[in-house]
Amino acid sequence: MTQTNSSIGIRQLLDMQKQAFIEEAAASADVRMQRIQQVIDMLVEHKEALCQAMGEDFGGRPAVFSLANDILGSLSSLKHARDHLKGWLGDSERPSVKPFDMFGATAWVKYQPKGVIGIIGTWNAPLFTLLSPLACAFAAGNRAVLKPSEIAPRTAQVLAEAVAKRFDPQVLAVVQGGPEVAAAFAEQPWNHLVFTGSTSVGKLIMAAAARNLVPVTLELGGKSPVLVGDSADIANAAERIAVGKSLNSGQLCVSPDVVWVHESRLQALADGIASQYQALYPSVTGNADMTPVINERHHARVKAYVDDAKARGLTVLEVGAAQAGADRRLPLALVINPPAEAEISRHEIFGPAVVLRSFLNIRDAVAAINAGERPLALYYFGSDETEQNWVLDNTLSGGVSINDVVMHPALEDAPFGGVGASGMGHYHGREGFLEFSHARSVYKAGNHDPRREWGMLPPYNEQFAQMLQAAVTP
Ligand code: NAD
Repeated sequence: MTQTNSSIGIRQLLDMQKQAFIEEAAASADVRMQRIQQVIDMLVEHKEALCQAMGEDFGGRPAVFSLANDILGSLSSLKHARDHLKGWLGDSERPSVKPFDMFGATAWVKYQPKGVIGIIGTWNAPLFTLLSPLACAFAAGNRAVLKPSEIAPRTAQVLAEAVAKRFDPQVLAVVQGGPEVAAAFAEQPWNHLVFTGSTSVGKLIMAAAARNLVPVTLELGGKSPVLVGDSADIANAAERIAVGKSLNSGQLCVSPDVVWVHESRLQALADGIASQYQALYPSVTGNADMTPVINERHHARVKAYVDDAKARGLTVLEVGAAQAGADRRLPLALVINPPAEAEISRHEIFGPAVVLRSFLNIRDAVAAINAGERPLALYYFGSDETEQNWVLDNTLSGGVSINDVVMHPALEDAPFGGVGASGMGHYHGREGFLEFSHARSVYKAGNHDPRREWGMLPPYNEQFAQMLQAAVTP
């Protein structure tokens, strides 16, 4: 187990941060802003080293994508939190208890930091999944310990060094290591635990957190569907799906996984996605614009889904061809109408492949989506507003983009999170601030207490009983 604060164990870090939190009492708005600014400055200073590390971890992820997704994506969350937290952290006045409010009793909700937040990230967005939640955790006045994914070890190391250079570990620290370290991390009595990762590991994390009654934010994955309505422009939908699917070679939690379209337009959509993808990536192997699959295991996993589909005799359209063994870049594979038992139907794809399914009536597609787990993202293409609203009313997912894919997680002032099997809780914006705050109700009594003179205290009289009876109204 490697750790950045070499001799300091996870529990020691947590205890140290908890103690410092108690001693600090409430971090002022300025202190919170300054901590967020330190993360911003750290990213600006180390952006090249971080992008290089991400490039190496993926075996050739384009630096522009790392810059856009992980550096600018994190900066966007951090700057939004920095610039808005003053407006979030004030007390919220509430109506007080009747009839005491007539005698000066007041009430408010005070948003207080929970304390120390543990944040476990993924390899696919190795900075964003740590630093975007951190923005809200810091805005809410907390301290934090980060656990990057061991599958992107160079990025984890550069981040750990950069954090150690800028931060007192009492405020922010990084713990590195594999699944065993992550499991030990999840067992600690954090004041809140954020986990981004797969649904299966998410269940282990929640079980571990439950032993200490640690509240969790689970940012999980799943099979995000796209519904291409009959009113959609096929060429436009094909282009946007191809562009969204191309990002990080499909290794995104909100990447389109299953695309539903009317039977009569399936071929046109498949051809459209293929030609758009081909235009983005005229070649596969060695194409510096294409993100490779992160490692051999995931490369074999995605390939196995596609090989299984081929072995079943399904229609599989591959956009380009990879030179075997040269690098881990894979062509996009479109798999048409696989049965439920096919490997590609049973797992989140999380790579450069996508399923196309046909419907005769969009209601059948919605019924099939609703029969499965609730997805992280759902996409609808079409100009028919009645149908669009029907789809929104009759499905549930973490978030939605309409007439595009993968866009809603970029909304800084709207919660980002899953529902059901795709997770619980959220970050971004004020909702993220609230996630990492305790909403503490405060009642303050007025100077005068009318209970005795109103006969509200024992010995009870008939008049009080009648007053209560009269208050029981529909
Ligand atoms: P993963 O679940 O394998 O790993 C995530 C983290 O969990 C890593 O830090 C790892 O060290 C840790 N971990 C692994 N095994 C563990 C165990 N037994 N106990 C405790 N911790 C353990 O996920 P991944 O492969 O890194 O990421 C892919 C998944 O993450 C996909 O399902 C994707 O959809 C999801 N994801 C979700 C979001 C989101 O915001 N909702 C973002 C990115 C990725």
